[in-house]
Amino acid sequence: MAIPFRQMAVVGAYLVRQHLAGRKRYPLVLMLEPLFRCNLACAGCGKIDYPDEILNQRLSVDECLAAVDECGAPVVSIAGGEPLLHRELPEVVKGIIARRKFVYLCTNALLMEKKLDQYSPNPYFVWSVHLDGDEEMHDKSVCQSGVYARAVSAIKSAKARGFRVNINCTLFNTADPQRTAAFFDRIRELGVDAITVSPGYAYERAPDQHHFLNRTKTKELFRDIFRRGRAGHAWSFSQSWLFLDFLAGNRDYRCTPWGNPTRTVFGWQRPCYLLGEGYAKSFRELMDETDWDTYGTGNYEKCADCMVHSGYEATAVKDAFAHPLAAIGVALRGVRTEGAMAPEIPLNNQRPAQFVFSRHVEHKLNEIRKGQSLAKLPPAAE
Ligand code: SF4
Repeated sequence: MAIPFRQMAVVGAYLVRQHLAGRKRYPLVLMLEPLFRCNLACAGCGKIDYPDEILNQRLSVDECLAAVDECGAPVVSIAGGEPLLHRELPEVVKGIIARRKFVYLCTNALLMEKKLDQYSPNPYFVWSVHLDGDEEMHDKSVCQSGVYARAVSAIKSAKARGFRVNINCTLFNTADPQRTAAFFDRIRELGVDAITVSPGYAYERAPDQHHFLNRTKTKELFRDIFRRGRAGHAWSFSQSWLFLDFLAGNRDYRCTPWGNPTRTVFGWQRPCYLLGEGYAKSFRELMDETDWDTYGTGNYEKCADCMVHSGYEATAVKDAFAHPLAAIGVALRGVRTEGAMAPEIPLNNQRPAQFVFSRHVEHKLNEIRKGQSLAKLPPAAE
């Protein structure tokens, strides 16, 4: 089962509580990035292009757990950078599990086998291993040979020890539907519990700007893949059926950026996991003071091609809650891969992109340097 019954029940009860409380906006998954440092440098990654002083920053265990408490989402996805480079990560994971939140630990798996002993199988814990395709596809995607083989070896070791293991797979315009379907078959044979799949987001800081998918290509690609896998039934996905149906162009969804709020070493990131347009000091400030309507496809140029789960899965979950019969229908029938697609969101009223990266980096560097010089000051005289 892609999502165990216990997790579905906890998340379902959480959704009911939010609805009964009349909350318009609430988080589903906290994206926790305790560091930006990584031991790979993938061509499609826009997350690690920072000076060393920022890459050396870590959220402390207390800061991580405070973010979990402040946010209150029932699921925490730990990403980065490479989270396994954070020495205190086992304590962070333990603290989150103690709060009865479901932890997805995202990793490129280079350190996973070495660190498996630091973690224990638990119904609240899932390894989420980055794999963008078969050996050739993945090693090309991460710009280093041998990474696929190490990830597969780590997956086998983790499964042998009784861990739940998912993969997270990002697809670019180089993805071949036949090959991707064969890769998903291979993943199933490996005993992986579920696949999290998403089109790559066109990060403005990614070294390779030529291989991101636009929305039309994304929908065609997913139809071509699902068609080869019994409308999606051949594989086990960690995402909702309505989100998969959206990826195949059958749903006219608007983004729900507050569904996956993101905490990094900069603070609470506005508006979403993919875009760092500003930072709030607290989760409450993020929720209350972000001008949400200025983001999302159709509203903002940087959102034009986005169909990523961190923006649209929460939309699908809310839709499933509002229209359970439609959700059951897609789960039974599978994803529709033929016929007309849902109308696309017009882009004629979107506001132009703002380029704010350097300003935020400069601000953070000043903050770090100020902290360092304060630390150097002699203690005040009594
Ligand atoms: S569409 Fe939503 S999730 Fe995607 S980049 Fe824009 S705000 Fe973020």
